Amino acid sequence: MQSVYNTYSLEKEIFSPIEPGKVRMYLCGPTVYNYIHIGNARSSVAFDTIRKYLEWRGYDVNFVSNFTDLGDKVIAQGEKEGLTEEEVADKYADAFLEDVAALNVEAATSRPRATQYMEEMVHFVEKLMAEGMAYEVNGNVYFRTNQFKNYAVLSHQNMDELKKNAAGRLDGDDQEEKENPTDFALWKKEVRENVTSWPSPWGPGRPGWHLECSVMNDVLLGETIDIHAGGIDLVFPHHTNELAQSESYHGKTFVNYWLHNGFVNINDEKMSKSLGNFVTIHDLLQDPSIDPQGLRYFLAKTQYRRPVAYSRARLDQAQQELTKIYRTMRALAKKAGNTGEVSADLSEQVHLLEERFIGAMDDDFGVENALTVVFEALTLANRSLEAGEPAAGLQLIENHLQNWLHIFGIDHFEEDHQLSDEVKRLLERRAQARKEKDFALSDELRDALKENGVAVKDGRDGQTIEWL
Ligand SMILES: [Zn+2]
Repeated sequence: MQSVYNTYSLEKEIFSPIEPGKVRMYLCGPTVYNYIHIGNARSSVAFDTIRKYLEWRGYDVNFVSNFTDLGDKVIAQGEKEGLTEEEVADKYADAFLEDVAALNVEAATSRPRATQYMEEMVHFVEKLMAEGMAYEVNGNVYFRTNQFKNYAVLSHQNMDELKKNAAGRLDGDDQEEKENPTDFALWKKEVRENVTSWPSPWGPGRPGWHLECSVMNDVLLGETIDIHAGGIDLVFPHHTNELAQSESYHGKTFVNYWLHNGFVNINDEKMSKSLGNFVTIHDLLQDPSIDPQGLRYFLAKTQYRRPVAYSRARLDQAQQELTKIYRTMRALAKKAGNTGEVSADLSEQVHLLEERFIGAMDDDFGVENALTVVFEALTLANRSLEAGEPAAGLQLIENHLQNWLHIFGIDHFEEDHQLSDEVKRLLERRAQARKEKDFALSDELRDALKENGVAVKDGRDGQTIEWL
C-alpha cells in the first residue's frame, strides 16, 4: 500500500487516485520575473522525483505546472530592464525551462500561462459573485472568507490567527475596502498607463494570483484532482485561498492530497535575499566545476518534506557519492549482456532489493531509505563484477539500477564537469613524485586517484587519465 502525507489531515493516508492508473497532479509554478533560486529548484526536483516514481509504478501522470506571467513583480522587473511584461515573462520562462532541464526535470504534460485563461478567470469570478461568495468594491473583487466554513482547515490555524497573518501577508490588497481582513482579491483594478490590463464586468484589471491556479486546475485537470503540490510556504495564503475558491465554485472536494516540500537552508541559515545568501540555479550552472546531475542528485536525496541544507561542501559530498555510482554503472555497462544465465541466488537478491526499494518509496516517498537500497545494489554489482558473474546477471542488476536512478534524475553516467580540485591536487602531487622518482608515493597516489574515479597511465608525455 502506498501512503502519502496529506497537509490537510496532517496524516499519512493510503494513496488511491480518482481514476485507477491515472494521477492528476498540479504543482504551483514560478512567477517568471527573475532567475529561480535553489529553493524553487528544490520544489521542481522534489515533485519530479515523486512524479517519476509514480510513473515507474505504472501510473499515467497528468502533470500540470503553471507560469504566473503577470502581476506586480513582472511589471517592476520590466521597468528595471526596459522590457514589456510579455518580454520579461518570456525571458524568465525560457530561463526556468533551461534550468530545470539541466536538472533532468521532465517536461510538464501542460505548462499553462495565466494570461492564456483570462476569459475563464472572469467567468469563475462571475459565478462566485452570483453565489454571494464574492463582492465588488471600486473595481476590485474580493472573496468573502467568512462564507466558506472550511477556510482555516488546510493551514490548521484558527480564524483569529489567520486574521493576524492576513494583515501582514495580504498587504497588496486594499484593507479598507474589505469586509474582513482575511478576504482576498479575486480581481484587481488596473488603470495605470503602460501596464497591461484585461477587460471585465468590473472594469479593466487583472486576476489575483490564487485565482489563476484554481482556474488552470479546473480547465486542465477537472473539478477534483489527486495531488496539489508546492512549497510549504504556499499553504497560507495561496493554497488556502485556492481551496476556498475552487470548493465554493464546484461544491466539491478540490484536492485529495496536499503535498508540500520543505525549505532550503543555505550554510545553515534560511535562504533570503536580505541575508545575501541567495543562490540561483543559473549561477550554479555557470560554474564549470558543478555537474548539473550532481546538483539534481543533491536536491533529490532528501525526502521532500524535510529541509535541505545547502552548502558547497554538502554539494561536493553528493558529487562524490555520484562519482561512485557513475563508476559502477560504467563498469556494469562494459560487462553486461545477454550471455550466460542469471543465478537463482542473484535473481532472489535483486528481487528482495526491489521489494525494499518499493517499500521505502511507498512510505511517503522515503528517498533516504530507497537510496540505501540503491547503494546496496551497487555493492552487489561490484561484488558480482569481481566474481565474474555471467553477463546476463550483470544485465539484471544494471536494468534495475538504471530504473531506480532515473527516479532520482540520474540518467547518464559520465561526469560532465571538469576535474575536481581533489583530483587536480592528486595529479599534481603524483607528477611531482615521479619527477623525484618516489615510485612508492606515486603508486599510492595512483590508488587515491582510482578512489576518485580516475585511472592514470604513464607515457612519454607524462600521465594521461581516463574516467573509470
Ligand atoms: Zn498556485
